[in-house]
Parts: sequence; structure tokens; C-alpha cells
Amino acid sequence: MYINNHSISPAKVVRGKNAWVKSLDLVTKLCKRPLIIGRSSSTRKIRSSFKKDLLLKGIQSISLELDHDCCELDIQKAHEVSRNNNCDGIIAAGGGKVLDTGKLIADLLDINCITVPLSASTCAGWTALSNIYTPDGKFVKDVTLKSCPNLLIFDHTIVRAAPPRTLASGIADAVAKWYESSLTSSASQDGFVQQAVQMARVLRDQLFLNGYEAFLNPLSNSWETVAEGCALTAGIIGGLGGSRCRTAAAHPIHNGLTQLTYTNKPLHGELVGFGLLVQLDLEEKNSNIQLPKQAKLQLLDFFSQLNLPVSVESICLGGKTSNELYKACKFACKYDSDIHQLPFPINENDLFEAIKNLQSTPISSKTIINNT
Ligand SMILES: [Zn+2]
Repeated sequence: MYINNHSISPAKVVRGKNAWVKSLDLVTKLCKRPLIIGRSSSTRKIRSSFKKDLLLKGIQSISLELDHDCCELDIQKAHEVSRNNNCDGIIAAGGGKVLDTGKLIADLLDINCITVPLSASTCAGWTALSNIYTPDGKFVKDVTLKSCPNLLIFDHTIVRAAPPRTLASGIADAVAKWYESSLTSSASQDGFVQQAVQMARVLRDQLFLNGYEAFLNPLSNSWETVAEGCALTAGIIGGLGGSRCRTAAAHPIHNGLTQLTYTNKPLHGELVGFGLLVQLDLEEKNSNIQLPKQAKLQLLDFFSQLNLPVSVESICLGGKTSNELYKACKFACKYDSDIHQLPFPINENDLFEAIKNLQSTPISSKTIINNT
């Protein structure tokens, strides 16, 4: 039997109402001088309250606000601040890119890592993976880390207050797990991978059933199932199934589309969701079965309900020249891209055509810009 070395889950996960406050004793056991990192001004208040809570427990923390997406510049800065202040742990509090930066610094310095997702927009709080971007948000590469975080705190009270747009984005990212993993990993002989793929299907079904109610009403029971599905279960699937289980075309298309410049930059899951529609379009063209077409129609409907972008225009690509779009396609089809895990050959011309194809699909009732 071959050796498969992968990190499946954080050592401890605390979830529920007021999970942060209830985890304070665990946090103080893991670090005596943590670096709290975050980014947006809208979450500054939450991070200051973390600092005060820790101080009441006798812990003096250091705070750092990042300037960009998870990029070399910010990583260097956080690395330096952490070392200069003898920090013995990282508390990353924010969205996916903040969590990715925090995990990477902790990994580089071999110190404990605590992730506190402030929205359900990705499963980055869970995984042993960091995506690296340029300072202006272009995807560069992903880095596999030595382990998942030591502690993940999923505080419902905090996450419930995040903009609904972040939940919709998390839903698109999480449903993509099924459509990507079932395509690349269904034939796997590895039991963990088979189970992860099935879990991705169950998760998709739950998101179909409860996603819209959760989006409309953060106080509903559906919200708990859906938010935890996006931020936690999606992470379990990635941990259990490993890299092979993660991506087919939707994520590589996301990586390609990040190479473009946006005035209103879509969120990670919004680009992945759009990439998923393109993936299904490619599948439809390359097979004789009706399933991809039906899945695409079903997702168009579901994404529109969630106000997710479903067309070239609504993903803010309407004004892009063919040349720019072609460059994004070239990036997505690089020789080492996961897009080549598709069960048929693919090149930038096919991808370009498939993206343009989404021009004629119905535009979501409101644009993503109005749904912040
Ligand atoms: Zn993703």
C-alpha cells in the first residue's frame, strides 16, 4: 500500500454561539503572546474585542492589519512583526485570504495557529493549504502546509453578522466540490477519496435544500447547516480526499480570471461558481449525456436565487477585451493546471468559447455590486 500523508482536520474545532469567548481558555493554552492578524476595516472592531478579551485573561497580544490579499509582501511583513515581537502563535481573524496568510506564517515560524473565520465564504479556516496571490489579487500558486490549524473557532454570533454575499459565495465554492471531485476522483480506488466524493454530494444536496433560506434568514436553522457546510464540511472533504479531490475546471478558471483587473472584484466563490458553469458547458460539449446540461440549468437557477453572478456581464467581465479574456484562459490552461484533470483534452480556445457562451445566459436579477 502506498503512503498517503495528508492533514485531515484542525486539532480542535469549537463551533456555535459565542464560540470565541468560550474558547478563551483553549487559546491561552496555545499561545501566551499571539499575533492577531486581519485585514478589512469592517472587521477591526471584532479584532479589537478579541484583544481586550485576551487581555482580561492576562494575555498581551500584538495586532497587525494586512494590506493586500495573501501575498509575499504581507507574508514578509507578518513574518517580521511576529518574529520581532517573539509571538508564539497566530490568531487569523477574517476571510479566506487572511486565514491563508495566518496559516502560512504559523507554518513558516513553526508556531501554533488559530483560525477564526469571520464569514462562511470559504473553508480556508480548516485546511492545510494557502493560496498565494500577487499584491493586486492575481492567483500565483497554492502551498501545502505541514498541518491544519491547531484550533478553529467558528463563532455563529460573529459569522451570522457577515454580509449575505459572503455566504452565497461560500455556497458556490462548496457546491463546486461535488462537480469537481466527482469528475476527477470517481474512479479512485482510495476509500477516503470515495467517501469524500460522496460527502461532497450530500453537502451539495443540503445546500440546494437549505441554501436559499439561509441566505435570506441568518437566524434560521438552515443558516447553521449551510454556514457550517461551507466553512467546515467543505474543509473535511478537502482534508479527507486530498489534492486529487479538490479541483477540476471551476477552480483553475477562477485562477485564470483573477489575472484580470476589476473595479469591483468578485469574491473567490463568485468566480468559482462562474467557473463551475463554464466547466459544465465544457462537459456538455464533450459528452453525449444530458447530465451536464441539466446540472448547468439547475445551478443557473440556484445561483440566480442567491444573487450570484451567472454571466460574463455579471461577473464584471462585460467590458473586458477578447485579448484580456484570452490571457485568463491561457493562465487557466497552463501545462501544470488542474484543468487537465478533466476527462477530455482542453485548451485555451475551447475555454475562451465556453466563457463567451455564458454571455447569452440570463443575468442575475441584481448585479453583485449591489449585494454587499
Ligand atoms: Zn475554493
